[in-house]
Amino acid sequence: MQTKLKRDLYINGVWQKAEKYRLLTSPYSDEGIAEIPVASEKEIEMAIEAAYRAREKMAAMPAYERADILEKVVQLLKERQEEAARIIANEAAKPITAAREEVKRTIHTYKFAAEAAKRIYGETLPLDAAPGGQNRTAYTVKKPIGIIGAITPFNFPMNLVAHKVGPAIATGNTVVLKPASQTPLSSYFLADLFHEAGLPAGALNIITGSGKTVGDQLVGDQRIAAITFTGSPSVGIGIRNKAGLKRVTLELGSNSAVVIDQGVPIKKAVSRCVKGAFSFQGQVCISLQRIYVHEKIYEEFVEEFVKETEKLKVGNPLDEETDVSALISKRDVNRTLGWLKEAEEQGAEIRFGGKTKGNALLPTVVLNAKSFLKVSCEEVFAPIVVINKIASMEEAAREVNHSKYGLQAGVYTENIHTALKMADNLHVGGVLINDIPTFRVDHMPYGGVKESGTGREGIKYAMEEMLELKLVIFNQD
Ligand code: NAP
Repeated sequence: MQTKLKRDLYINGVWQKAEKYRLLTSPYSDEGIAEIPVASEKEIEMAIEAAYRAREKMAAMPAYERADILEKVVQLLKERQEEAARIIANEAAKPITAAREEVKRTIHTYKFAAEAAKRIYGETLPLDAAPGGQNRTAYTVKKPIGIIGAITPFNFPMNLVAHKVGPAIATGNTVVLKPASQTPLSSYFLADLFHEAGLPAGALNIITGSGKTVGDQLVGDQRIAAITFTGSPSVGIGIRNKAGLKRVTLELGSNSAVVIDQGVPIKKAVSRCVKGAFSFQGQVCISLQRIYVHEKIYEEFVEEFVKETEKLKVGNPLDEETDVSALISKRDVNRTLGWLKEAEEQGAEIRFGGKTKGNALLPTVVLNAKSFLKVSCEEVFAPIVVINKIASMEEAAREVNHSKYGLQAGVYTENIHTALKMADNLHVGGVLINDIPTFRVDHMPYGGVKESGTGREGIKYAMEEMLELKLVIFNQD
């Protein structure tokens, strides 16, 4: 098939022809979009070596210069916002309105990184607090860790890359980035921006290819000091098991829940919950998957929820009216249909949706699903939400915590005592009171417990994971 676009590997500041290419297709239309390099072992090695050679230059670069480069990327991205959004919409089938939101957030993420590059502090230490520590001056400095291996998922191909590349450059590290195979174009577009912004050769290298091949080589290479991974729990756990002494940040999946107490304004909560459940077809790590509603308002909540869900438009991601488009792969369409079948067979009710339209699954509302069903206990990563009845907030907390995941959870309540108790008792990385778990802005600490991962992102927090603390002591005796 003839395609217009062909991208090359980005290694050592130049576009490098690859030995092998493959066709990238649209998840929505199945049409060819571009030819993408499949990096060989030798080409991956070239990328790692380039990052290794550039590390001293990056470590020596003054903070204001690193900040200037990131600020330039902010400006360039602002100028090319619409082009960036169309790239995301095409390669990920993300509805164009959501893709524009992602680009806006990416601009802020790089802006936060530019600002944070100037605020890397150590501290002075009172060594004389310990006997024998007198007459010494001690302070800490924070040094770049070296080369960062960054591995990213398909669902936020621009902003989640920014959450790794932004802090890595802000801290004076170098990067080898491996984006998801379905969404490499956003990353290659980013390379254009950093190139134009004057990033030194070798500071950012982008290679595409099989997740396992590239991943294993990055994780296994002694020159790479840290791996920052966002993706599925099974791949993340595999990386952790192979990483040895490397620092590893894992931002993994979830089956996020919200609890709706009696007495809350139902329409307001429903409108947020519909957004949380179906934005980008539910393919968001903090997508709302489980809703626990107090029995006193359950029927009314469900009616209102279905009414709002019916209004969603399913279609072409480039159509301005589209709310829900194709899932990322046909395999995911079949997987989710199988999970829905299991739910029905086990007594759950599919109150709305449950069917496909092309490569899209219609927004689907499941009632009374038992907690052991896959639509409840696994990460669905699709436009499927489960709504169950609870008799008390204690029961709701037990249900939310009855999960192998723990990324974020939401609680709608008018009762401050209930809110404080739930905030205390929910075993997750973040609790949102009177909001859905799907809320995120890009400077807040973000990450999970249990199989949702280890470490935190949100520029300042990601930077800590990319810095080494060094202690200096002057003996004045
Ligand atoms: P994925 O299948 O785990 O892929 C993520 C990345 O890992 C891709 O670049 C993939 O490459 C690569 N990969 C695959 N196998 C690998 C291996 N053996 N070693 C190293 N890397 C490997 O995840 P996805 O389907 O793209 O993304 C969805 C998942 O990401 C969901 O679970 C979601 O919850 C999670 N997520 C978490 C967060 C968060 O911040 N917590 C944010 C967004 C998404 P290929 O594409 O080439 O296979």
